[in-house]
Amino acid sequence: MTENRRFLLRRRPDGDPVRDDFELVSAPVPSPPPGGFVMRNHYCSIDPAMRGWMDDEPSYMPPIALDDPVRATTVGVVHASDNDDYAVGQWVMGLNAIEEYSVVTPGHFTAPVDVEAVDSPTRFLTAMGAVSLTAYFGMTDVAKPKAGETLCVTGAAGAVGSVVGQIGKIHGCRVIGIAGGAEKCRRLTEDYSFDVAIDYRGKDIEELRAEIAQAAPDGLDMVFENVGSPIMEAEVFNLATHARIVLCGLISEYNAEERVGLRNLWQLIVHQATIHGFLIADYAPRFPEGGAKIMEWVREGKLRIDEDVQEGIENSYDTFMRLFSGANEGKQILKLP
Ligand code: NDP
Repeated sequence: MTENRRFLLRRRPDGDPVRDDFELVSAPVPSPPPGGFVMRNHYCSIDPAMRGWMDDEPSYMPPIALDDPVRATTVGVVHASDNDDYAVGQWVMGLNAIEEYSVVTPGHFTAPVDVEAVDSPTRFLTAMGAVSLTAYFGMTDVAKPKAGETLCVTGAAGAVGSVVGQIGKIHGCRVIGIAGGAEKCRRLTEDYSFDVAIDYRGKDIEELRAEIAQAAPDGLDMVFENVGSPIMEAEVFNLATHARIVLCGLISEYNAEERVGLRNLWQLIVHQATIHGFLIADYAPRFPEGGAKIMEWVREGKLRIDEDVQEGIENSYDTFMRLFSGANEGKQILKLP
């Protein structure tokens, strides 16, 4: 290949991202910088967090600069190298962008991965990627599940949520999942062994509140929050005493022009509950430990991790928007053949 197609952010989205906020451009394939290398990206992780990186708001990372390619974690192969530690053909993974070739300068986080140890390089974006590690550390380090407790997880059929619920089951908890649509709810109970699935679509907060109360008559000991209000408010009305809330994501707010927020914070006082803002980056030194445990559960058949692989850089926008329509069936990945 002689060209490098790149998916650029041209304009900051206002509410829902639209096609014209982005542009697919073609550039020459770059040469390796002194001491660095050029990576051919084979798979891009498509994550809800990318929406936040498109806004010029204070965050845990600087915003994507306008006219830069959209930032993404990628897995690929060293294409050309000026670094003896990174031979051409070596598989690597790092925080790069949606583009066919990425320049990796010395000191930039991109590390070798052992593709011989897994059945597919996509495993580095799924089982051993940030989403599974988020579920693992959010559950084991923050929620700290005990057998017999009740866990409720939102975005339950998604990449993080499905793993969270299964980890709850591994720890002997009763697991309630909230997701959109009958098919996703079927997957929750049949594919991921959740105890109860609640379809939130078309329901108001009172209906959700009642359904959660019916599923958890003694209240929710743990809430793993991926979505936000109004679903989160319905959960918070159902807390057990000393409940733990892992605040992992608020996808219902990412494109919202007006944010609903949590109007029943008082319930946290009533139930002496704790709410813990969680960021996976905090756990980077422990990623090998988490990845090893997750792979052990996968090999033992205790954990199922689904991947939704779309193909072609020209489909970047459509693939990204699947996260917000709920079309993704598992971890959303874009393959750059
Ligand atoms: P998912 O695979 O769960 O995909 C996103 C899902 O969110 C969709 O399939 C859809 O499912 C649901 N969704 C989208 N819009 C809405 C809405 N308005 N209301 C309710 N549900 C909605 O994505 P991930 O597993 O990658 O991410 C899940 C959450 O975890 C996100 O909030 C993300 O930001 C967060 N996260 C946080 C991390 C951290 O370190 N704090 C790290 C990684 C992820 P449905 O069809 O059920 O509506």
